[in-house]
Amino acid sequence: MSITFLPAPGARPIDGSVDHAIQDIVAGRSTDATCTTDLAAGPWDFDVRPGYGPGSSMGDVIPTGAPRQGELPVAYREASEEELDARIRTAKQVLGDRVVVLGHFYQREEVVRHADYVGDSFQLATAAKGRPDAEAIVFCGVHFMAETADLLSGPEQAVVLPNLAAGCSMADMADIDQVEECWEQLADALGPLDVADDEGLVPVIPVTYMNSSAAIKGFVGRHGGIVCTSSNAQTVLEWAFARGRRVLFFPDQHLGRNTAKAMGVPLERMPMWNPRRPWGGSSPDALVDARVILWHGFCSVHRRFTVGQIDQARAEHPGVRVIVHPECPMEVVDAADEAGSTDYIRRAIDAATEPTTFAIGTEINLVKRLAAQYPQHEIFCLDPVVCPCSTMYRIHPGYLAWVLEELVAGRTPNRITVPADVADPARVSLERMLAAKPPAPVAR
Ligand code: SF4
Repeated sequence: MSITFLPAPGARPIDGSVDHAIQDIVAGRSTDATCTTDLAAGPWDFDVRPGYGPGSSMGDVIPTGAPRQGELPVAYREASEEELDARIRTAKQVLGDRVVVLGHFYQREEVVRHADYVGDSFQLATAAKGRPDAEAIVFCGVHFMAETADLLSGPEQAVVLPNLAAGCSMADMADIDQVEECWEQLADALGPLDVADDEGLVPVIPVTYMNSSAAIKGFVGRHGGIVCTSSNAQTVLEWAFARGRRVLFFPDQHLGRNTAKAMGVPLERMPMWNPRRPWGGSSPDALVDARVILWHGFCSVHRRFTVGQIDQARAEHPGVRVIVHPECPMEVVDAADEAGSTDYIRRAIDAATEPTTFAIGTEINLVKRLAAQYPQHEIFCLDPVVCPCSTMYRIHPGYLAWVLEELVAGRTPNRITVPADVADPARVSLERMLAAKPPAPVAR
């Protein structure tokens, strides 16, 4: 499966690069705003500092022990955009079919242009399966995505993450120790969690969003649970409700709430589990009454979107079509015309036959690229501030050039390997999702 952004027929050249937009803002050539001028620096400037670096999740707390990248050699830090572009092309040519480069929708244009496949995390992990002869899979995305690619690729294939510090602040909000502790407390409130009642339903089924560590996917696999994506969350919740009285949904509270609400689950039956509070900040009675227990996690990129931005878009662009990602808060999804995954958004724009104005609530790199690819439409990001995902931003072309040239030299840097005791149950949770028959993305 290859999802590529080819220029539409007659497309005028539009610069889809967020990097260039930020440089223009910092240099005073643009009147737009950016969330931090630090974005104009190379991400290596932040490798040794605490936190996720500049961008949408810079206010989040990075867990102790999160992977950190060693210093990028100076030749890559000081190279111009043109030089890096040429070095990447040359290295890819030398490596040929021995390497496949995957680019997430949220990557910067300077990286995506070198990708053999472009898509969301699960599309990319499965796309890698289509290249079983590639010795190396270079995943231009974040850590949990590289782990998923390792789970789904052949044992001889090396999955390489160009910058080890490219984590995901949402995935990091549910660590395995917290989840194990939550499970023990749920057993205290609900009784033995592996014993089915008269109707064959266990007390709770764990469901994790694809945006979680392999350790969490392994936990879910060991406890009868399943993985979901933003495209198939409703199908997966139906699967879980056929097997359990309740669902424990992590790490993204918003995807869980938006999906369950659309299925008719009342908000009062969706208590939140905050891992820093006793009983998750809830009560045993509320947990007994729950239908979906929502983990206290969120995406800092999608949390930036507000109802006020939608109101402003409607006031300034009568007839605008507002599409947001289901990781956005509930009130934003409710105020939008449609909600759907990144792939849903891309398909919706692609399917529009008449010139249309779209206001999009998802990561800025994707929105700018869509605007460049579909010049027949007016496409803009709901958030007027240029603020990319902090961790996606860490995959600078300098890191991509470095890992590719290391591969040319016969070395394999930054290999991501999931240990077998985690990988086996994690694959089970993914296989359950595939067997649950995910439908094509649908509008709300
Ligand atoms: S956009 Fe959100 S969910 Fe995706 S990698 Fe960034 S922080 Fe994680």
